[in-house]
This record gives sequence, C-alpha cells and structure tokens, in this order.
Amino acid sequence: MRLKHVKGAEEYIAGSDQVVQDYKDHKGEWNKFFNNSNRIHIEIGMGKGQFLMEMAAIHPDINYIGIERYSSVLIRAVQKKEEMDLKNLAFILMDATEICEVFSEQEVDRIYLNFSDPWPKDRHAKRRLPSRQFLERFSHILKDDGQIEFKTDNKDLFAFALEEITPGGFELIEVTHDLHNDEKMNIGNIMTEYEAKFSALGNPICKYIIRKAKK
Ligand code: SAM
Repeated sequence: MRLKHVKGAEEYIAGSDQVVQDYKDHKGEWNKFFNNSNRIHIEIGMGKGQFLMEMAAIHPDINYIGIERYSSVLIRAVQKKEEMDLKNLAFILMDATEICEVFSEQEVDRIYLNFSDPWPKDRHAKRRLPSRQFLERFSHILKDDGQIEFKTDNKDLFAFALEEITPGGFELIEVTHDLHNDEKMNIGNIMTEYEAKFSALGNPICKYIIRKAKK
C-alpha cells in the first residue's frame, strides 16, 4: 500500500484516548477493559476503520478492536471515531507480529483480515497476514470455536491464503470467489473501504471463513 505521511500523526495518536496506549497491559483482561463479558472481535490491518465503525454501530453487544501499524492511516479512523459514540470499539497502533503479547490464549472470538497487503515477492510470503506463520499466532489467541474471515480482490493472494489454511492449523468452513453475487455469504456483508473501491472497478471479491482444525 502506498502511504502518505500525515504530519503530526504520531503525536496525535500518542495523545488520543481513542487509541489504547498501554495495550500489552490488557492481555487476558480485554473484557475488563470494556467492562462487560461480550465477545471480542478484532480486525488486523484495519486501515481507516470504515468496516469496524459500521460493525461496532450495528453490533453494540460485541467488543471490537482495530489494529493498524501506521499512524498516518490510523489517524483517519481516530478522527472519524471522535465524532461517534462507540464504546464497544478500541484501536491499537501496532504490528500484528506482536499479537500474542496483546491477547491471551483463547481470548478472541473472531479475527477479520480485510484486503491484507499482498506482499507479492515470494521471500516476503511470511509477512502476508493469511500466511501459516500468522495463522499459527492467530490460532493461539482464538477460542476453539473462533473464526477468521478473510476478504480480498487479489486472486494470487487468495490462492496463497487457501493453500495456507491446513499448514496453518485451520479448516475451511465457507469460500466464495464472488462474494457480492453469492446469495448466502453476502448476507449482512459490510463493505470495507478497499472493497468498495475495488468492487466499483468490477473486481470480484473473494472471501473465506475458517476455524481451527480439531486436534
Ligand atoms: N482493511 C482495510 C480495508 O479493507 O479497507 C485496509 C486495507 S489496506 C490494503 C491494509 C492495511 O493493513 C494497511 O493499512 C496496512 O498498514 C495494514 N497492515 C498490513 N500489515 C500489517 C501488520 N502486520 N500489522 C498491522 N497492520 C498491518
């Protein structure tokens, strides 16, 4: 993704109460953080947060946490959220490689990966969020009946992601190569910013839902 640097974004994020600053201190205690016992759903690589803000507004009984590694991107989500009253949504500025330092084993009910960066070079494969290396980390923090939902318009990345499911310790529940024309899987679909952009160009959207493989 091309990134436009936003002047002052680091300072803005560091001073924002919409962003959890001491996020590692909440490991194993995210329900305490939200002050309820509701399920926890996270989006990794949330970008400007359009998807999560819509989801949080529709599902007040679910706690959402958005993770993004660039302050120049996260600042856009933070500024939007400041105008809304969404107590069930929090943001974290971090790299997802640290995810097991932030959530305990089985703390998370669902992980959304939306339009993850493709990292097209083979030698960068392990940086792709649906790679087996990331799936192993996600498996650790996900509940046994937890799920991962992944969407992309990138056919090569999706083919790679499908091959990584088994070595990553997961099994496929549902898959489509044309989400918006899939009567069943498109029910309740909330479009992300990238999804709106790429589907407007005529690109079909691929999606899978996976769960941890039974041991
Ligand atoms: N999910 C949004 C959407 O669908 O509109 C944004 C998609 S954008 C292509 C991918 C985002 O993931 C970028 O903002 C990027 O900075 C973030 N990202 C990629 N790898 C990440 C990582 N390892 N940890 C945290 N964020 C990451």
